[in-house]
Formats: sequence, C-alpha cells, structure tokens
Amino acid sequence: TRTTRPQRLLQAVSINAVRGDPDSVIKAIDHFCKHTEWAMNVGDEKGAILDLVVMETCPSTVLELGTYCGYSTVRITRLLPPATKLITVEMNPEYAHVARQVIQHAGLQDKVCVLEGESADLIPKMANMFGIQAFDFVFLDHWKDHYLPDIRLLEDCGLLAQGSVVLADNVVCPGAPDYLNYVRYNLKYSSRFYQAHLEYTRVLDGLERSEYQGD
Ligand code: SAM
Ligand code: MG
Repeated sequence: TRTTRPQRLLQAVSINAVRGDPDSVIKAIDHFCKHTEWAMNVGDEKGAILDLVVMETCPSTVLELGTYCGYSTVRITRLLPPATKLITVEMNPEYAHVARQVIQHAGLQDKVCVLEGESADLIPKMANMFGIQAFDFVFLDHWKDHYLPDIRLLEDCGLLAQGSVVLADNVVCPGAPDYLNYVRYNLKYSSRFYQAHLEYTRVLDGLERSEYQGD
C-alpha cells in the first residue's frame, strides 16, 4: 500500500532514533531528508540558528505556527526549562497525527500541545484556552502569506508583550515580502535577519528575528 511522506519520515524515526532522546530524533529526520526525501522542516542549518534564538530568549510561553511532522517542535521543546509548555498549531490532521508520534518518540509529549486547526481561528481563543497572557517566543513557519495577518492578529489579541521574540522562517525562500516590510519598518519591532540556506539545499534563505517593543 502507498504511504505518505510524513508516514515515511515517522518510520525513519521509529527505526533510527532512540526513544526519549530528542537529539537522535532530530538527527534521524535530518538524515532521512538529506539522503532519502526532502521535506519542509526548518532543517539543521537554520535549526542551529533557531536553537540560539530560543536559548537567548529563555521563554516560558511558546507558540509555533506550522507543525508539519514536529521537527522544529522537538528542536525548540528540548531546549525549554521543565515547566515551560509549547503550543503548536497544524491545520492538516494527518500531519498533526504524525507530529504527535514524533514528539512522543522524543519523550516530549508532556511539554507540547498540538492544536489542530487554522491559526486565524485558534489565535483569538488562546488566551482563554490556556490562560496565557502573552507568548515570550513565537516561531512562524506556516504558509508565508499568513505571517503578516497572524502577527497582526497576535498583536490585536494582546498576545505579544514587550520583549516577545517572533522568529520567522523562509523569509527569503519562498519569501514573505509583506511581512518583512511590516516588521522592518515599524517602531513596534526591532528586527534583524539571519542568512542561511533553505533546508537541505544550497538555495539562499534566512530567518527574521523581530522583538516586540510594545506600542
Ligand atoms: N515548522 C515545521 C518544521 O520546521 O519542522 C515545518 C512546518 S511546514 C513548513 C508548514 C506547515 O504549516 C504545514 O504542515 C501546513 O499544513 C501548516 N499550515 C499552513 N498554514 C496554516 C495555518 N494557517 N494554520 C495552521 N497550519 C498551517
Ligand atoms: Mg520553514
């Protein structure tokens, strides 16, 4: 019978990664995507930048938009202090199902909530659902034309506080020009670019780190 790419990625994790060891899960996925099938994970090169930004931010509340198979979820969550929880949003139920199993394999299931649905529907419900004041760290990695409406929605819902860090992937490839324009020329944000390459390729890409300054 035919399988999907996320199922094959999960299979590679089940076979090659040590249960309860997030680093071995990351390594198994990177190996699979470099040598067997490309997939849209943030990947190892940009992942190292993501790690640094998470560590310097030291967040106690984290939101990720775009879970896919849970690669970046595992990357971020493995760096969080014990009490910190991460909420990740995925609109494709098949991807969410795979992500939960990848996260479980890494032993991080108690720190992660995988929410199934569209970011625009779920963001306004987050304060009530989780009793959250604001997110200290937000990773944007869903469809690129949603970056701008969703950061504005996060602002409108009061979910960004002074010092909140929003990190956006793929701002060069495929690119999010309207979003970059918004965060770079806006007194509410202090923004900088980290150049790297599209996951598992030599194509130029990068991440944009935007720190909310309050209004
Ligand atoms: N962050 C993941 C990683 O690095 O491992 C990769 C995420 S992948 C690039 C983007 C994902 O966002 C897809 O799985 C897609 O289904 C999901 N997505 C796109 N738009 C969305 C939206 N508006 N709300 C929720 N999920 C969305
Ligand atoms: Mg990405």
